[in-house]
Amino acid sequence: MSLCLDRGSTPLVSIITNKQLVKLVKQSYKLFFILFSNSLIYKNTQSRFHLHKTNIFYVTQLSATLKIIEIYFGGGYALKNQIEQLQHYIHQSKKIAFFGGAGVSTESGLPDYRSQEGTYTKMEEKQLNPKIRMSKRFMLENPEEFFKPRDNQTKPFIPEPNAGHRFLAELEKQGKDVRIITQNVDGLHQKAGSKLVVELHGNNRHFYCMECGREYPYNEIPRDDTNVPRCPIDNGIIRADVILFGENLKPGILDRAKELIADSDLLIIAGTSLSVYPAKTLIRHFTGSEVVVINQSPLKIKDVQVDLTITEPVGETFSKLTVHA
Ligand SMILES: [Zn+2]
Repeated sequence: MSLCLDRGSTPLVSIITNKQLVKLVKQSYKLFFILFSNSLIYKNTQSRFHLHKTNIFYVTQLSATLKIIEIYFGGGYALKNQIEQLQHYIHQSKKIAFFGGAGVSTESGLPDYRSQEGTYTKMEEKQLNPKIRMSKRFMLENPEEFFKPRDNQTKPFIPEPNAGHRFLAELEKQGKDVRIITQNVDGLHQKAGSKLVVELHGNNRHFYCMECGREYPYNEIPRDDTNVPRCPIDNGIIRADVILFGENLKPGILDRAKELIADSDLLIIAGTSLSVYPAKTLIRHFTGSEVVVINQSPLKIKDVQVDLTITEPVGETFSKLTVHA
């Protein structure tokens, strides 16, 4: 007997062959009905089932099924299957679009803006509105305040790529077409060795003068007597090439990201709540076969059908996979 994943009315995608599951389905009438409760076939109920001489069960949601299995078998079992499923998707895909957010870098020691230790949370604790304090307008009107070192910045912290970044880079090295679209500005994907990285919100490694465009290496940024980074030639503010609140994305970057997502057959959404523009509008362009979400909390996504959700840290998840293109 097999368990076949069903997308709407067309059975497709993949087949799970797991002896334990098969045994369980055979033994448990109750479980059988739980498995069917999501399916269109359920509408035709038992009589329809009895016509299924091949004993193929159809379910709509792998994640829901795995949840049930977890209840029966205890924790760990579902994750093992999810990892196998993810491995399978990666193996069979030709072009992988990886859409990542802050959660991809938390295992490198960079807090999510929205986490307890994150920049935004810290600001809000001090009754500061991050949307104002991290805006271009605030930078121009209050440069001293904007560039004031934050409490925790006693010495610069240099983050290193984690297992997630390394896995994707290694996959590419082995010959897989991996396209990374990231909301992060930390450059850890490139540091790990990934070649095709679209940084939606810019990057924090490139500094330039807003007046003349001269570029300054991080260690050689001149500052005025109020500690504001300024260009000695025209007194322009020297800033990082990141997108601040109130600023538009770089021209062309959105189109590039759309193009890469639309042309991929597997979409992995990782470490992001998809709440920050333009995340939601971007994933809509995916027309490939499988969508995987790796995020600590499950996401409500309307625009694409999610085939697999893993609620574990991104790096930890990827560290359980084998790299082979
Ligand atoms: Zn200048």
